[in-house]
Amino acid sequence: MTAFWTEADYDDHELVQLVRDSKSGLTAIIALHSTHLGPGAGGTRFWHYAEPKAAMRDALRLSRGMSYKNAMAGLPMGGGKAVILADADRTKTPEMLAAFGNAVESLGGKYVTAEDVGISEADMVAVSQHTQYVSGLPVAEGEAGGDPGPFTAMGIYHGIKAAVHHKLGKPGVSGVHIAIQGTGSVGGGVARLLAKDGAKLILSDIQEDRAAALASELDAKSVAPDAIMSTACDVFSPNALGAILDEEGIARLDCAIVAGGANNQLARAKHGALLAERGILYAPDYVINAGGIISVTLEFLCRQHGDPCDINEVRKRIALIPGRLEEIWQESERTGISSDVVADRMAQKLIGR
Ligand code: NAD
Repeated sequence: MTAFWTEADYDDHELVQLVRDSKSGLTAIIALHSTHLGPGAGGTRFWHYAEPKAAMRDALRLSRGMSYKNAMAGLPMGGGKAVILADADRTKTPEMLAAFGNAVESLGGKYVTAEDVGISEADMVAVSQHTQYVSGLPVAEGEAGGDPGPFTAMGIYHGIKAAVHHKLGKPGVSGVHIAIQGTGSVGGGVARLLAKDGAKLILSDIQEDRAAALASELDAKSVAPDAIMSTACDVFSPNALGAILDEEGIARLDCAIVAGGANNQLARAKHGALLAERGILYAPDYVINAGGIISVTLEFLCRQHGDPCDINEVRKRIALIPGRLEEIWQESERTGISSDVVADRMAQKLIGR
């Protein structure tokens, strides 16, 4: 058997903890990639994995992604992630969430958790009964924090406008054709913001009625899930799944820009170069989708100090995302290195690697 630390996805992670609580049936992995800039921050995923190896891969890759994302967002946080291995029925009990909260607490603040796929705000409230190192909790009207989705969408909206300006020389998105894959919390929010500015939207979701309902609300078009990646457009915005940009996916694209919120869009590192070869401008996912973690982090830091969290501070920080993307694209054009690699190198430098 290969040693765990020679696995391809192991990247000098500081800590990888297996959490087992036989009483509640909890099995979880908490991975801390780097605490160079502060406590490792990143959400908890609740997912049924076909094999435990896939859960480990997720924890390793996602926690490294959080190190990069937090560093590039200028947050005083490192990168961490937790995955809870759900059974096939996705049974989730208060006892499991309590055991998970205890495990987070036992790390003494090295890891700060929040929502991710499969974990709701109510779940985080339950976890918060057992640990103080938690964020994404309900907040009062006008305060930052809570559901990160709308803040993520806001950052992507700003990022798409920056990409349209950079690549197409247009001052705004009015009349620009934008294909959106996934119309959930993030994709739906992005679509609504772009529609207000007069963008021509093409929407798609595997829940086809969801995309169709939003299309009718926004006077947009909707297409079948398997047609969205080859739709002719200016911007393709992935807001559903990761790993969609492989050889086959990239060959199908008919756009000038890829800019969206899905995590880990590139199937492999080499696919960033493939996009660049095709002349497609790519907004590195963890840079453009940092709006949610900015909100969640400020919420956490404010709560620790017992202060209310000013939503304008969150908006101000989200408004810095376009400038970061611009810096990456300029460096990429200057050096001929693809934008994903430029971003990775900037992030690695920030976390002292
Ligand atoms: P969500 O569950 O609210 O929405 C996802 C949508 O994508 C759903 O409507 C789902 O039906 C659809 N979908 C799934 N597979 C699809 C496919 N093959 N084609 C088209 N649609 C498909 O999730 P979300 O919070 O909007 O997150 C979307 C993506 O953004 C995820 O990759 C997530 O990791 C990433 N992300 C989310 C946040 C956040 O704040 N919520 C932050 C950063 C990154």
